[in-house]
Amino acid sequence: MSHKSKKKRPSSLFDLDNIKVSMQAKVSRTDRVRELLRGLREVDVNALISNEYDLDEHDIITILTSKISVQMLNYLHKALQHVPTNITRVVDKTPMRSAIIFKVFTSLQSTATGTFIHPTVEELETYGKILETRCPLFMSVDTDLSNQDSLLDKYLTPPVSVCIRCDKHLSMRNNPSRAVLFTLNGPVPCSKFTLECRNCSIHFGVCNYTDRSGTCFYPLNFDLDLIEVSNVTYFHCDLYQWMPSLSNHCWVSFSEFAEAYNEINEKQIQTYANSLKDSPILEGDADDSDKGILPGEMSAKAIAKCFWQCETELELLSHGLRETWVFMAAKSGQFTGTTDDVMEYIDKKRSEELYLHNCSAHCREKGCGQLYVADGNWKLRYAHCMWKVPIELVGFGKINYPSYR
Ligand SMILES: [Zn+2]
Ligand SMILES: [Zn+2]
Repeated sequence: MSHKSKKKRPSSLFDLDNIKVSMQAKVSRTDRVRELLRGLREVDVNALISNEYDLDEHDIITILTSKISVQMLNYLHKALQHVPTNITRVVDKTPMRSAIIFKVFTSLQSTATGTFIHPTVEELETYGKILETRCPLFMSVDTDLSNQDSLLDKYLTPPVSVCIRCDKHLSMRNNPSRAVLFTLNGPVPCSKFTLECRNCSIHFGVCNYTDRSGTCFYPLNFDLDLIEVSNVTYFHCDLYQWMPSLSNHCWVSFSEFAEAYNEINEKQIQTYANSLKDSPILEGDADDSDKGILPGEMSAKAIAKCFWQCETELELLSHGLRETWVFMAAKSGQFTGTTDDVMEYIDKKRSEELYLHNCSAHCREKGCGQLYVADGNWKLRYAHCMWKVPIELVGFGKINYPSYR
């Protein structure tokens, strides 16, 4: 019996009238939602910027999503985070930053499959403004474009937007120039922007600033993760920190480090070189020693310069002089001069003092404070020259090799 009644029920489900009713209900439900969405799409975005609605961030994101889709909103989010906010120049009534954001957005969009709306520069600028002014939570999520397959330009700007002396907004000095950034993932093409305060005549570079007296490091709390090796060459700190460590523990030289880097990043270097095809070659510090170095390859000279720069900076830091030292071509005054002058100053200081360390009885017993090392590594213990040298020096007594007995 129950078998029969079970059979009857489905037949009523396939009743034509019932199907019609449920389909109509579905259509009208869908129409209702479409109407709501259309309503959302018609919200005037300019009114969102000027704060004419009492809407929270969640509501605003909902409106923007209905207008340009979740995926496009994410691309815009990434592009906004990728292009620094202190690119402020306006060219032909279009802010340069908006034009770059549009370029990055279009490049990201080209990697997606499907049909999407294609906003104009102005529309994208408006959406970007809304996100940056009204959606702090959404914008605080970090997006990283560094592992993007298609090589995107990185935009290098100073770590400041206002003058560090007078707080006035900075303006752009020149048109952006080309540079290369060596990272753990290979070379990255860069557009570099420098800023200036016309009020104080200070030029703000990516890693340091220059006033009438000379060039200084930015304060430590700016937390820079780049090292400027020349006008056109930058190193990421994550990459650089391998150099002193490999040199200390594996005796890796500058040219060996550069060789290894170029070997490991062969593919990325090729991609980098291809990306430069229509752009002018980097102008700057090429000289005879760079012969045979392809675009995007690291030269021994670049990593050596990076090393000396970082190590002198660390020495200045440990002497409390990092932000005091003024770099200039010709020395004028105590804490001024070139990187060579820093080294000379540090050498003099170091020869008169002990490196900071936790001294122990064992350390004192071994002659702490009375040990003079004339050279490093194993030359100290292994005679590698048979030339007869004096083994007694005035004031030092007899020179001997360390003995562990
Ligand atoms: Zn100023
Ligand atoms: Zn000691």
